[in-house]
Amino acid sequence: MSIFKRNKTPNNEGDNSALSELALKSIHDGVIITDKNGTVQFINPAAVIMTGCSSASNAMGLDYGLIVKLESKEGRELSEAENPLIQAMQTNQPLEPYQASLIDTSSEKRLPVAISVLTAEGMSGNRIITLRDITKELEEEGEQTEFISTASHEMRTPVATIDGYLSLALNPQTATIDERARGYLTAAEKASKHLGKLFQDLLDVTKLDDGKIKPHFVPVEMVELAQSIANDHAMQAKEAKVNYTFGSEQPLSGGRKMQQVVYGFVDLDFMREILDNLIDNAIKYTPEGGSIYVNVRGDGDRVLINVTDSGIGISADDLTHIFQKFYRVDNSDTRTIGGTGLGLYLVKQRVEAMGGKVWAESAFGEGSTFYVSLPRITADEYEKRMIIVRNQQAQAQMMQKVPAPQIPPISSQSAFQVASAPNQTAPQPVTQPVAPRPVAPQPAQPAPRPVAPPAISPPPAPPTPQPAPAPTITPVQNQINNNLNGESK
Ligand code: ADP
Repeated sequence: MSIFKRNKTPNNEGDNSALSELALKSIHDGVIITDKNGTVQFINPAAVIMTGCSSASNAMGLDYGLIVKLESKEGRELSEAENPLIQAMQTNQPLEPYQASLIDTSSEKRLPVAISVLTAEGMSGNRIITLRDITKELEEEGEQTEFISTASHEMRTPVATIDGYLSLALNPQTATIDERARGYLTAAEKASKHLGKLFQDLLDVTKLDDGKIKPHFVPVEMVELAQSIANDHAMQAKEAKVNYTFGSEQPLSGGRKMQQVVYGFVDLDFMREILDNLIDNAIKYTPEGGSIYVNVRGDGDRVLINVTDSGIGISADDLTHIFQKFYRVDNSDTRTIGGTGLGLYLVKQRVEAMGGKVWAESAFGEGSTFYVSLPRITADEYEKRMIIVRNQQAQAQMMQKVPAPQIPPISSQSAFQVASAPNQTAPQPVTQPVAPRPVAPQPAQPAPRPVAPPAISPPPAPPTPQPAPAPTITPVQNQINNNLNGESK
């Protein structure tokens, strides 16, 4: 029997019900109404076609799960716990439009849909499932992404040329300019770098959104990796006049601390992008005299990395949005600081692609901590995976054809005073702050990037700047350390 009552009543309720049914039957979105147990009570023609049912009458009385079968939008099978439709139906919670692939039960074809669930108010507990075909939307999105990607790619080249010439003009060894011109050109160089970063970020966003960049997982010791990346920011932090420290210690009872060796299975480029971004932000949003602390530790089956700063902080309102595309906090503190609003979005995409999570804790004016949690592997798993990688490398060497997965050396062993005890969790007294990797820091004046041959006679190439001695990371800041270790000041 239809759930739409047809009995005529003096106030035309019956006519209204018939009209409602007719309206639902005429729309292009699929609509399925079930009772509170999930048994189908109504299905409109659009839903019959989308789900591949032979007819509405055949679907009636069936469990919704037999006709609405979903895969993730990437085409992955969804477990019951991951399936938002099952969760919404079981918990009686609404489901906001969720993108998924609907499996046609007769042809097994996949249709991209936005699916949502609503519960009818009142005692009936009827559930309304709606299915919107988003094939066209995705096509348009794809075209848009393609356009942004091509445009960013094309525009990066002239920006790099402008950047190169500005660097030459600002380099006293290649050009002579007066102070006023230096001021103008410095401003132009800053804007051109911003533009270059914007194009690069846009390109990365389109590639990640499109699923064109997939993580290439390798086993790695996370403390060493994070420290090596963190060290590359030491000069930048020094120039910004902030205290910058790195740690990998875990607080123990009795005020003791242990230094850990923590293994992960991650993409090295993703890790660099993620940490570069979080540390860049920490430096950018921390005024002179502030502190920044990067820490890596094992936390059960997770690797937990945090980048903590004593900077300008983020209000609770903004905190809920900062990982969105193009979101920038707009206040008197941030207005003068350049940025694209894409960095944290890219961090989130990359962390999630590696099966991790990222979040931030902050309060306005009180500094921020950004956390990245990633799956951890045991020392045994690390060894096993390393054997596989080494075998693949050896095989590739023998074949000399197929490129084997490469794990680039992170740093020389001596550069890290990281515990290498056989037992990962053996307490290690933390003695000295960890020495930085002896890498050449970025010169203050970057060498111009290679530029396209200019139409006019080219200026002479500047000499390669000599790297300054590597700065030393200062000892762990007590204040931040205490906060992190939960010790009282
Ligand atoms: P942007 O290029 O603007 O820095 P992000 O996506 O990296 O873009 O960050 C988004 C916003 O989050 C920034 O505009 C900034 O207001 C805020 N933010 C990010 N990191 C920090 C931080 N460490 N301290 C304070 N605010 C931050």
